[in-house]
Amino acid sequence: MTRILANDGIDPIGKRLLEEAGFIVDTETVAQDKLIEALQNYDGITVRSATKVRKDVIDACPNLKLIGRGGVGMDNIDVEYAREKGIAVVNTPAASSLSVAELVFAHLFTGVRFLQDSNRKMPVEGAASFNKLKKDYAKGVELKGKTLGIIGFGRIGRATASVALGLGMNVLAYDLYPFEGAITLKFQGGLSLDIPVKTVALEEVIKNSDFITLHTPFADRPILGAAEFDQVKPGVGIVNCSRGGTIDEQALINALDSGKVAFAGLDVFDNEPTPLEAILKHPKISLTPHIGAATNEAQERIGEELASLIIAHFNK
Ligand code: NAD
Repeated sequence: MTRILANDGIDPIGKRLLEEAGFIVDTETVAQDKLIEALQNYDGITVRSATKVRKDVIDACPNLKLIGRGGVGMDNIDVEYAREKGIAVVNTPAASSLSVAELVFAHLFTGVRFLQDSNRKMPVEGAASFNKLKKDYAKGVELKGKTLGIIGFGRIGRATASVALGLGMNVLAYDLYPFEGAITLKFQGGLSLDIPVKTVALEEVIKNSDFITLHTPFADRPILGAAEFDQVKPGVGIVNCSRGGTIDEQALINALDSGKVAFAGLDVFDNEPTPLEAILKHPKISLTPHIGAATNEAQERIGEELASLIIAHFNK
């Protein structure tokens, strides 16, 4: 029998599919320092972002034939080393794209109607400030007709574009690899519509967008820093649901304080799980604790995709 340790959990659908295919699946989390000992009894391990499968684990577990990552980023796995040792490494890159894209709009709708601030102030300031806050938040804007700049036009960037286009926004996209094609919008009744989109220069996105959202992998240097914030449209909103490190956080705080940037929505931070206090307490920043993929639907898709990849690997 093939045994799989789902060390960071797996959606019940994924577990059921594996069990129906004859696999034994254990979902009890083994602490990192006990992992090597536990893995002697398993043929495969699945992880999310918590468990690390590094060289030490790979070297000490000769039975291991597969490492599965439920999700996208494989920063917690020594992928190349595992593959050199003949261990298959698989992930589920597309399963969470729409969930991350929808979180972008949770932050955008929050920012344009000041929810990040009203949710903090209304419970503590009480009735006395109701009318004052009503005035403070009187200058909201609609998303329809505005331009969303998308930096990084891969799976999540394109899913974000489809939501934006569906809302009647304009899209300006930039990617290291130019894209020219169509984004397909699907509507009820089986209707669909192809909207042509072509990537443009980064500078064009930075200068001409009403809102900018980042969807690139981790980079050695921030993509948005002081020089870029100097060039943005005054009053732009910034969203980051990609990876900490892609925005210079201090430059963002400065741009928010000066009013150049109207608001930011952040799901990812330089110092996770302890973001800067100046970020956590900033009245113009909407916060989520790295939950881009954390929807029931995404977790089901991840579980299903992971199970089918594991079954395909061991049955080939
Ligand atoms: P993807 O590989 O499909 O797309 C990334 C795109 O970024 C690629 O098209 C690539 O060419 C482009 N790119 C790379 N460096 C760039 C740069 N410097 N400038 C412009 N474009 C650049 O990846 P994806 O699935 O769309 O994921 C995007 C990001 O979202 C990743 O960082 C991933 O880790 C992150 N993510 C976050 C969550 C969350 O919970 N917040 C969940 C899933 C993924």
